[in-house]
Amino acid sequence: MLDETLAILDDLIAFETVALTPNLDLVGYCSERLGAVGADIRLTHSGDGTRANLFATIGPSGDGGIVLSGHTDVVPVDAGDWSTPPFEAYHRDGRVYGRGSADMKGFIACVLALAPRFAALSLGRPLHVALTFDEEDGFHGAPILLDDLVCNGPRPSAAIIGEPTGMEVVAAHKGCYEYTTTVTGRSGHSSEPGRAVNAVQYATRFITGLMELGAEMTDRAPASSPYEPAPTTMSVGTITGGQARCVVADRCSLEWEMRPVQRTDADHVRTRLAELEDRLTQEMRLVHPGASIRTEVVCEVDGLEFDDASPALGLMRSLLGDTPAGVVSYGTEAGLFQAAGIPAVVWGPGHIGQAHRPDEYVEVDDLGACLAVLARLGDSLVR
Ligand SMILES: [Zn+2]
Repeated sequence: MLDETLAILDDLIAFETVALTPNLDLVGYCSERLGAVGADIRLTHSGDGTRANLFATIGPSGDGGIVLSGHTDVVPVDAGDWSTPPFEAYHRDGRVYGRGSADMKGFIACVLALAPRFAALSLGRPLHVALTFDEEDGFHGAPILLDDLVCNGPRPSAAIIGEPTGMEVVAAHKGCYEYTTTVTGRSGHSSEPGRAVNAVQYATRFITGLMELGAEMTDRAPASSPYEPAPTTMSVGTITGGQARCVVADRCSLEWEMRPVQRTDADHVRTRLAELEDRLTQEMRLVHPGASIRTEVVCEVDGLEFDDASPALGLMRSLLGDTPAGVVSYGTEAGLFQAAGIPAVVWGPGHIGQAHRPDEYVEVDDLGACLAVLARLGDSLVR
């Protein structure tokens, strides 16, 4: 089973499924494997049809059963930073190196390798496989898959999101809200800045406001916050604007994010930022009526709220014994599953510290341990 898993992982790594690029070849590969064991397969697509989610059911149809879920996309690579080609699996010292090996094609390989075994069991409850697209860039795929499930069924009873948690059960995480803010000013000669509206300079004032709000979040952190760091955090990831030193920039945009520990923090930030945008816009429009600041939502993904009575947590306890339920600060699709009425936990092979880095790898031992637990899960669904 482990050899088969490693062979599948090699294949999966070779699909260059960077977020926002096509994943249909990989989805076709998974469909073929799951279809071959008699799984019922449903695809849902991105608006332009270049990416797909896959939802497969092994065993009986209808409500109930367990979802094993993974995202098919990976983060981009800077190949120069890698010791080996990032989209060719490289095996050494009990590790498999390659983009996505930990995050999270290792888990998907385990699920695909076990599919024939699951299909051979006489399952009393269904085992579902959910594969999504564009998780790494705005969580665009999972909401489409979940909408389809909510509207057309079935309604599974729990989901395991196989992110690389080092095989620790994660029962709560922060939300992940991502935005793009664009400042539009008016260009001009830098010797006459008063006749222009400097978009770069207004963007820095917006960022200052953002950072002040970030500092306020520290005071708002609930005493019981289980997270490290405890408060809602905010961060500006990119800023782009301007043409030359001697030209006043007419455009500047920034990408930023917030990781709320509680929904009220997110509401507070949005209200305060809208006030700041209004204030800055009014000032800019004294010089140029067409000036503006606009913030677009890339994604607003809810956190996974801790629920000690969650059937998903109960499932993990039944499989692993009395395991601690951890929390993490990064976002996953588990919050979306929970919001769609499917209790979820995060648990999978590999370590988050390996994800999103050059020379990403997963330990072969982790894959073996994952296979053993998922095999027990299959057995537990036998009628
Ligand atoms: Zn991931």
